[in-house]
Amino acid sequence: MIPYSTQTIDNDDLEAVREVLTSPYLTCGPNITEFEDRICSYTGANFAVGVNSCTSALHLAMCAIGIKPHDKVFVSAISFVASSNCARYLGADIEFIDVDKDTGNLNVDYLEQMLFKADREGNLPKAVVAVHLSGRPVDLAKIKDLKDKYGFYLIEDAAHALGATYQGSMIGSGKYSDITVLSFHPVKIITTAEGGMCLTNDEKLYKTMKLLSSHGVVHDKDDLVNKDMPAYYYEMQSLGFNYRLSDLQAALGISQLDKIDDFLQKRREIAKEYPTLFTNSEIKLPVKDTEGNLSSWHLYQIKVPHKMRDYLYKSLRARGIGVQIHYLPIYAHPYYQSLKAYSPLEGAEDFFKGTLSIPLYPKLKKLDMQMVATTIEGLIDNFKG
Ligand SMILES: *Cc1c(COP(=O)(O)O)cnc(C)c1O
Repeated sequence: MIPYSTQTIDNDDLEAVREVLTSPYLTCGPNITEFEDRICSYTGANFAVGVNSCTSALHLAMCAIGIKPHDKVFVSAISFVASSNCARYLGADIEFIDVDKDTGNLNVDYLEQMLFKADREGNLPKAVVAVHLSGRPVDLAKIKDLKDKYGFYLIEDAAHALGATYQGSMIGSGKYSDITVLSFHPVKIITTAEGGMCLTNDEKLYKTMKLLSSHGVVHDKDDLVNKDMPAYYYEMQSLGFNYRLSDLQAALGISQLDKIDDFLQKRREIAKEYPTLFTNSEIKLPVKDTEGNLSSWHLYQIKVPHKMRDYLYKSLRARGIGVQIHYLPIYAHPYYQSLKAYSPLEGAEDFFKGTLSIPLYPKLKKLDMQMVATTIEGLIDNFKG
């Protein structure tokens, strides 16, 4: 089976993990701060909180910006469910933003209309969650203009997009948004098995996320509410969670980050190679990178005629090609439909019904790519609707 994505683990990763396993700290050790610092230097963010998943990172982001029951949060319609679940944990009401039918990224004009309408009704969202789908950056400058006009918090779900650039700046730099979250799940750009991170340039948001990531407990004498306490003393100041990343995972993260340039280069080479292998005009290939806007190419999402998509999915899997669908629109899940009769969105439906993620990962071989392309084209030629 050729998977659609998989981790790249080398001997140096094994060695990094082994070193922690024989050290005094399996968790809460020195690798966590180092990993956070390294991600800050890489992305240009001022502050980072390493956590045990991107889902936790999203939850902490929503806590830090103070989401309360029935606050409105706008979320890209095409994403993994965690992008909106994080606001549901705090009782927010979700509205979904329609997406561009070719990229699956949120449609900024649609967002602007939603905001215009919400403003007239006196019901503006407290936050917008923008997803860089497949690693291709959304139009952050335009969304920032809307943020400045309507005053919402902008959270970037960059689970796919570590290493991507928007107008020359790294995703995660925080130039346009309040918080950016990352995922280190095995299929993502770098991995810590499970893991994630919150990035921000706002010290107050940072401190809140940091505090909540570890039970809301404070140890530092200078930050205690109760002064002149005995040496053993620590205190809980907010209702937090155990969302900590372990030292073991952080060491793996550091060793993975050492290789990110190589990972991204391979992904970008594959994204340039695929178009040379497809000739069938029924297949729409993903939009290419432009000057300054470089996708991290987490996914290679082709678009095929709607009537062929499920047939291709089934036939390719039967032939050992691990294609995937990213994603069913979030509003279509039974849980979301049980909350509210969300209507289908035009762009999201079109994108979803035609999208197919084909294999892309750093170690993917050219022969396998050729096999993937020939198999897809052969199946399309044989399709009898
Ligand atoms: C993977 C993913 C998440 C969740 O990441 P975890 O680290 O698995 O919690 C969130 N958003 C998007 C867009 C993702 O792809």
